[in-house]
Amino acid sequence: MHQLTIAEMIRGLQSKAFSSMELTRHLLARIQQLDSSYNSFITVTEELAISQAEAADQRIAKGEAPTLCGVPVAHKDIICTNGIRTSCASKMLDNFIPPYDATIVENLNGAGTVTLGKTNMDEFAMGSSNESSYYGPVKNPWNTRCVPGGSSGGSAAAVAALLVPGATATDTGGSIRQPAALTNTTGLKPTYGRVSRWGIVAYASSLDQAGPIARNAEDAAYLLSALVSHDPKDSTSLNRPHEDFTEGLSNSIVGLKIGVPKEYFGEGLNAETAARVQDALKEFEKLGAELVDISLPHTELAIPAYYVIAPAEASANLSRFDGVRYGHRCENPKDLRDLYMRSRGEGFGEEVQRRILVGSYALSAGYYDAYYNKAQQVRRLIKQDFVQAFEKVDVIMGPTTPSPAFELGAKGADPVAMYLEDIYTIATNLAGLPGMSIPCGLVNNLPVGLQITGNYLDESRMLNVAHQYQQVTDWHQASAV
Ligand code: GLN
Repeated sequence: MHQLTIAEMIRGLQSKAFSSMELTRHLLARIQQLDSSYNSFITVTEELAISQAEAADQRIAKGEAPTLCGVPVAHKDIICTNGIRTSCASKMLDNFIPPYDATIVENLNGAGTVTLGKTNMDEFAMGSSNESSYYGPVKNPWNTRCVPGGSSGGSAAAVAALLVPGATATDTGGSIRQPAALTNTTGLKPTYGRVSRWGIVAYASSLDQAGPIARNAEDAAYLLSALVSHDPKDSTSLNRPHEDFTEGLSNSIVGLKIGVPKEYFGEGLNAETAARVQDALKEFEKLGAELVDISLPHTELAIPAYYVIAPAEASANLSRFDGVRYGHRCENPKDLRDLYMRSRGEGFGEEVQRRILVGSYALSAGYYDAYYNKAQQVRRLIKQDFVQAFEKVDVIMGPTTPSPAFELGAKGADPVAMYLEDIYTIATNLAGLPGMSIPCGLVNNLPVGLQITGNYLDESRMLNVAHQYQQVTDWHQASAV
């Protein structure tokens, strides 16, 4: 049963080939049995899952079930879940039990999904390898000596190991797409504002977006359709008519114009990764699409701009974790200053502290114009590159990451090497555009991801394009387990 996709589970549940309870118990047992090898879950919510499965089966029996009713999912542990610890993989929030659900959890619960648990991640979503978790690193199911990518490494690994058919994740600079690429899963970061951020612990508010990780584009479309809503509780939430993202999946892509940015195939790209991506582009030509050479001239400025803006916003967002309002509190503080300093020093890991320092520095009075303002100007130029490109093409394609999964510990000592992992994904967030990663081949039995970047609000087309590719290739069916 664990091999079924979400689409197949929906059919099986609706035709009563199996119940949600059977499916749920099967996957819970699988997590119990196998996850010690991957560490993809921080919390398994067995009791909740059983009660949700029971309720789902009743709705199905009465014939009142929405499409996703009874389908098991997992949520990244940055997404608040009522009564269930939401740790952000940090000692700081090890004891935090939210009294409410994030809007996206409410949406999925309303759609009848069954929550199996909360997935591991880089601490506060800062990282690209899932090694900075307080609960230990996640291992890549394709090779447990390698990282699964980050920060949504737990969601990606759980899907890749067939412990759950789909999971929620968040992406600030690549954290859905990069782990999807490294684990042979399909991940989608929506247009900024598509999916409510309410109840998701904020990292960098102008960049954060939540989206699904699943086994293929069709399953991602099912999940995205349930995740999207207009939310008055998030002031950046877009008010758009509801879309069913599964509707356009089978449209023809004859005549589709695919932009291929020359900057995404330069220095630093692993040759075999490049070859797999080129093969995928040829496949799209066979499907009737046309490749168009384009340039995104400010690409090399994306990482420096991001590593000013994201830490600046993070330093402000994380100031609420002070041992008073939320989070870990040190023992026997001498005075208020000691309480703040030791609570934060003990509660936050090294990478989070580094980001807070960098961000506070960039925002300080003497440096604000030189760093923060400058980075915002660069952000505008990057956005402009995409606006110009989308005058000529429908989607943009290239590699998701410079190379396949690396070994645990390989980049731990060098934060800048780690930051370069997101070289192809970060610009999408700076521009607020939707982006996706889909499997497109293997190098030494490690997955390679193809990145598809869409125009604003064009998720439906991206999913259509991905689905058409997945109809004629079987890379997405290659399994780690
Ligand atoms: N790796 C990037 C960072 O560490 C992106 C993380 C993310 O998208 N949450 O900030």
